[in-house]
Amino acid sequence: MQKDLISIVIPCFNEQEMIPIFYAEMKKNMAATQIVDFELIFVNDGSSDNTLESMRTLARMDNRVRYLSFSRNFGKEAAMYAGLQSATGDYVAVMDVDLQDPPELLPSMYKTLKKEAFDCVGTKRVDRNGEPRIRSFFAKMFYKLINRISDNYIVDGARDYRLMTRRMVDAVLQMTEYNRFSKGIFTWVGFETKYIEYSNVERQAGKTSWSFWGLFKYSIDGIVAFSEAPLAIASVVGFITFLIALVMAVFFAIRTLIFGNPTSGWTSLVVIILALGGIQLLSLGILGKYISKTYLETKRRPIYILKETDKDLRDDE
Ligand code: UDP
Ligand code: MG
Repeated sequence: MQKDLISIVIPCFNEQEMIPIFYAEMKKNMAATQIVDFELIFVNDGSSDNTLESMRTLARMDNRVRYLSFSRNFGKEAAMYAGLQSATGDYVAVMDVDLQDPPELLPSMYKTLKKEAFDCVGTKRVDRNGEPRIRSFFAKMFYKLINRISDNYIVDGARDYRLMTRRMVDAVLQMTEYNRFSKGIFTWVGFETKYIEYSNVERQAGKTSWSFWGLFKYSIDGIVAFSEAPLAIASVVGFITFLIALVMAVFFAIRTLIFGNPTSGWTSLVVIILALGGIQLLSLGILGKYISKTYLETKRRPIYILKETDKDLRDDE
């Protein structure tokens, strides 16, 4: 019987040290199982170090290693999309190169997909040990918020590390939006996902490319991509303000009728004007965010631009 082929997509940004370590680890784990064939698809997301060179070296040594190299940094989301597009396997995995996604889980993920009626086996960290406290705190808040205001449920602690069947990958590829938020996309397409839990692993070498501000912007993008709730803020606050105004109008009318009309209330006027001005600007800002995302989508720009692939290397030889 022919073995299944698993494609493993690995986005890399300035990971020259990690690539050989990852490759060795992966080979060890896959050799131990022998039940599947695999191809590694490294995606060089515009690295400025020798990441591309180490991918070339591996591709020369092992023809199961393929790579795609972008013309500049397009972000991990774009890298994942490019990798999924060029994956040929019956099953496709997405994995970080820093070994924070334990490769030893992959064989059992594959077995689960084979045996049970799932289309995806995902992974979920049960703790965030080794991560800055403040980052964990905001991550928790983010999941609470997005799950409250979006119909699309996103599992707290779920990683991008997952193994999917071909039909699920094809569904994900149909989502051609420019503003990609994979955590949302993977749940939006449906299909049954089983989560495997594991304890957080720290990065082996190199450093994280996420700044606090970067993560903050990423979470706002996620919310804009999968919820329209913020757009309703203006209406909700507007309606409440209107009700308050109505009550105040009645109150002042009665007070004036009974006690006459002493001129006062300058302070309350200023407060009201500032508060309303603030809310209006906030609502405009939210509206602007959605409009700018719409603007970018309508341009239909490509999600990434390729500069080189392993094909170029193999054609030269
Ligand atoms: N990555 C990428 N493009 C980027 C940033 C990151 O392809 O612009 C890759 C990175 O090389 C790694 C994965 O995405 O394989 C996760 O990145 P990182 O480890 O920095 O994130 P963290 O684990 O800290 O969330
Ligand atoms: Mg990492």
